[in-house]
Amino acid sequence: MKAQLSLLFFLIATGMAAAQPMRATQESKDPIVAAIIGEATNNSQLEQLAYELLDKNGPRLVGTPGMQNAHNWAVEKYKSWGIPAQNEKWGEWRGWERGVSHIDLISPRVKTLEGMQLAWSPSTPKKGVTAEVVILPEAADSVAFQNAVKSVKGKFVLISMNQPTGRPDYNWEEFATPESFEKMKKERVELTEAWNTRIRNTGYNARTLPAALEKAGAAGVITSNWSRGFGANKIFKTYTKEIPSIDLSLEDYGLVYRLAEHGDKPQLRVVAESKELGAMPTFNTIAEIKGTEKPEEYIILSAHFDSWDGSSGATDNGTGTITMMEAARILKKVYPNPKRTIIVGLWGSEEQGLNGSRAFVEDHPEIVKNIQAVFNQDNGTGRVVNLAGQGFLHSYDYLQRWLSAAPYDITKHIETNFPGTPGGGGSDYASFVAAGAPAFNLSSLNWAYGTYTWHTNRDSYDKVVFDDVRSNAILTAILTYMASEDPERSSRDRVVLPVSPRTGEQMKWPTPSSPTRRGGLD
Ligand SMILES: [Zn+2]
Repeated sequence: MKAQLSLLFFLIATGMAAAQPMRATQESKDPIVAAIIGEATNNSQLEQLAYELLDKNGPRLVGTPGMQNAHNWAVEKYKSWGIPAQNEKWGEWRGWERGVSHIDLISPRVKTLEGMQLAWSPSTPKKGVTAEVVILPEAADSVAFQNAVKSVKGKFVLISMNQPTGRPDYNWEEFATPESFEKMKKERVELTEAWNTRIRNTGYNARTLPAALEKAGAAGVITSNWSRGFGANKIFKTYTKEIPSIDLSLEDYGLVYRLAEHGDKPQLRVVAESKELGAMPTFNTIAEIKGTEKPEEYIILSAHFDSWDGSSGATDNGTGTITMMEAARILKKVYPNPKRTIIVGLWGSEEQGLNGSRAFVEDHPEIVKNIQAVFNQDNGTGRVVNLAGQGFLHSYDYLQRWLSAAPYDITKHIETNFPGTPGGGGSDYASFVAAGAPAFNLSSLNWAYGTYTWHTNRDSYDKVVFDDVRSNAILTAILTYMASEDPERSSRDRVVLPVSPRTGEQMKWPTPSSPTRRGGLD
């Protein structure tokens, strides 16, 4: 079903764009556009950037050395291209460093399990913790749970539902009889409801339960946050302060769960090393190519630099990051004296609430009020298929003008929506839209982003589709060039927002939010 849907979407997108006049071709008459395409195609640095950022540096969780090292790497990289850059401090965060995660089943048989500690998990001793595994005790209500919870003392506790199948729905849809697919889905709904009741009856929720188990003397908390794809789990943060929090793959979680359910008393040895590093400074990396005619007006290339750390953050948001860096490199080479100033913002801590970009907006009102355009990219490796006007009344005029310079092979995939409505969140463009600055999201074809890579243990280099990323770097560079050259300043006039059918009141333009400047430390 997923494949069919995206094919349909592709056809709609193609059809709509094809109705627009075809203006630019691969052999653009504009020498700068031609040079952008030539440099991106014949001298691409994307693979090298991806290698250095994703493989060599690795994940970029806020407050970790991996994040700090990446900021320093980006500054050096820009300098090697002759682009001045610096790390701007905007706050601080709980510092933590992920060490080894190694999880073994040692009884009733031996098997090394696939899993890892969650972000900010407390460390085990070097030789690890060995203990029996139990399922979260079932209780009639929170009073009964206070008694039942005593049984977890010294044990690892399984607190996620045991999934009835490790096969994604698309696989069932392809091979199961319709009857057995329906039966599985019904069973899964019932299991989910029963598990939610079990959690609710503890008197806690998924966030507060781990601390309650910790207080009851558990050896550790084990989850399995399945992402509904083969082998893919989402890896988020821990809610314990003393004992380790680990996530197991669906397959190994199911194995351990069934052993416990059958009374076979599974024993695990968990080594989950980590280091607390106190308060660590948080940054945005800001690069700048100074404008020559209107240096006080800005085009901002925008991508968040941070990631979750279950894998290397390849598509969230390594691909957005290298798109913007590559576009800047190309522009510096073929368009070194832009009319307006070009800034590349690689934001910290987007994942905890757009913190880096909100800080930039708050700290630089003089820049924000003079923004010609912001181009943000943050939803995976796919080629851009959507561009909306974010509620700016005349966005069609200038965005369409800028887009028309890009090759038809790139724009034919893009469905546009003007004037659209202002985005309230989801990625960093929203920080600028809230401040009234014309900011736009270069929205990507999904490539199973939500299931397989977004915040998962599978968001790695191999998922990058370089041809699509290259197309996005070309698009970004051309839009930036056109926005810089445009004789007109882009309009900030807003649409009159509609009455919300939900509240019956007229919808309001989002307002700027302050960032969290001190995170995870209290
Ligand atoms: Zn992201």
